[in-house]
Amino acid sequence: MTKIKRVAIVGGTHGNEFTGVYLIKKFEKDPALIQRPSFQTLTLLGNPRAFEERRRYIEKDLNRCFLKQDLQDTTLSSYEDTRAKNIQQLLVPKGNSQVDVIMDLHSTTTNMGLSIILQNKHPFLLNLGAYLSSVNPLVKVSCPASDKESSFLRSLCELGFVIEVGPVAQSVLSAEWFQKTEELVCTILNYLEASNQGTVPQSPSTVTVYLITSNVDYPRNERGEIQAMIHPRLQFRDYQPLHPGDPMFLTFDGQDIPYTGESTVYPIFINEAAYYEKGIAMSFTERQEILLSSNNLMEM
Ligand SMILES: [Zn+2]
Repeated sequence: MTKIKRVAIVGGTHGNEFTGVYLIKKFEKDPALIQRPSFQTLTLLGNPRAFEERRRYIEKDLNRCFLKQDLQDTTLSSYEDTRAKNIQQLLVPKGNSQVDVIMDLHSTTTNMGLSIILQNKHPFLLNLGAYLSSVNPLVKVSCPASDKESSFLRSLCELGFVIEVGPVAQSVLSAEWFQKTEELVCTILNYLEASNQGTVPQSPSTVTVYLITSNVDYPRNERGEIQAMIHPRLQFRDYQPLHPGDPMFLTFDGQDIPYTGESTVYPIFINEAAYYEKGIAMSFTERQEILLSSNNLMEM
């Protein structure tokens, strides 16, 4: 079994998500909080300029700049493209000092509570997710349904994941979410330490994973203007079932627009403020119970 040697905690990949930024500041002031005997923990403020300006980003979304081909493309020179290349250098330099685990701290305006979004269905990540949702049933685990290449920062290493907490407004600190996120980070670090020591606590034999299958845009007119809002009966119902025929949007003159799919889905990122510009009203997920092969399986 390969041991974890380096763990990176990243905050402020989006400059207006303050929970992660201020946790990084706290950890940098008091590193003992995140140090564990068997591995090194690094901290990184993802987008410092965007944080200074209380914005998500300066020129483009940093968390969409990590496609392999883009990181190698020297003609991409926006602030965020350059920052992404620097972050790659810091976290996964050539040689053997790469980080083994990346946790990227985000917040959301949606009601996603305490969410872990895994980079992939690596058994180690699934077991971690199973453990976290067993010690705190409020933790939800999701993962992209397809293995297509990712442009997210978390994709810099195989054991990458995002912690997404909310609802919390952009550029706002919420003491509740700050404390819950800190507690979750510490639980994860303790789990990684236990994994290195071979003393991982027994996890359940299955884990519920919400597989992200597609993004859904708002209804728009031919000029691209939004024609309806998230339906009030769907608002804040992240991870709840949306059945065929259930209301999904409400037009400005009060007409319901139902969900017309054929199978029940479990939407997340419902009405995320940062996604209006991306043409995403919500992401659909399918709920799946995944059988865990081994509680301590690592193939690195
Ligand atoms: Zn974010």
